[in-house]
Amino acid sequence: MLKRLFLLTLLFSSIFTFSQKKLSFTYIGNIGVYITDGQSSVLIDGLHTEYGDDYLFPPSTLIDKIQTKLLPDGILFTHYHGDHFSALLSNEYLNTNKKAILLGSNQITKEIKHFKDRVFTISTINYDKQVVKLKNIEIKGLKINHVGKRHISVENVGYLVDFGIKKVLHVGDTNWMEEINLFSQLDLVNEHIDIAVLPYWMLLDNNATMLIKKHINPKHIIATHISPRINKQELQDMKVTYPDVYFLNTLEQQIQL
Ligand SMILES: [Zn+2]
Repeated sequence: MLKRLFLLTLLFSSIFTFSQKKLSFTYIGNIGVYITDGQSSVLIDGLHTEYGDDYLFPPSTLIDKIQTKLLPDGILFTHYHGDHFSALLSNEYLNTNKKAILLGSNQITKEIKHFKDRVFTISTINYDKQVVKLKNIEIKGLKINHVGKRHISVENVGYLVDFGIKKVLHVGDTNWMEEINLFSQLDLVNEHIDIAVLPYWMLLDNNATMLIKKHINPKHIIATHISPRINKQELQDMKVTYPDVYFLNTLEQQIQL
């Protein structure tokens, strides 16, 4: 009887622990996040340098912390703009962490001269999801058009990062782009996304709540790419409109989800 009780307790406690398992998000500036389940980790758009007054970037102390303590297993980039990617820092990191891999579109990977066996190019020919395995994580990269007419040639890539316990979507610099039916083509709603990392401007659309539900349907939303010069009232209004959204705008800010 005691033994049975013990086994039952063990079963319930393991179910409880499993369901409690969380991902930790650390803000690295602009739309950069470091995500870990305690076992594996990815850094998305987290290695970049000063680009302008509207973009937070990781200072050298934080870059140092990434290279020596956070040690992401994968460094992923959505596109080559200087508020998202630094070729110098990326090459340096792959040289420091001999096991780390890099993912990006061709406009990113052509900047990486060595470490070819650890570099994965995400094609932007169509919207096909391309799988890359990394330890216990499954990453799918896919084209998601960059916002703005003048950036039409920018190869922007989004990522679905599946940690097993939770699945994260990071879209880079996009918008709803209904004129090309972008999100209908991406077919993300069947991916069972737990957490979506979005540029905050996607929340400014009048139909944002409906569009998020229809096209992504995440359990949680993290909004970022917030200018340090944003009108304080504008940010406050957004927080009131979206009380359940997590806003990342302070370096090394952490969220557990
Ligand atoms: Zn950007």
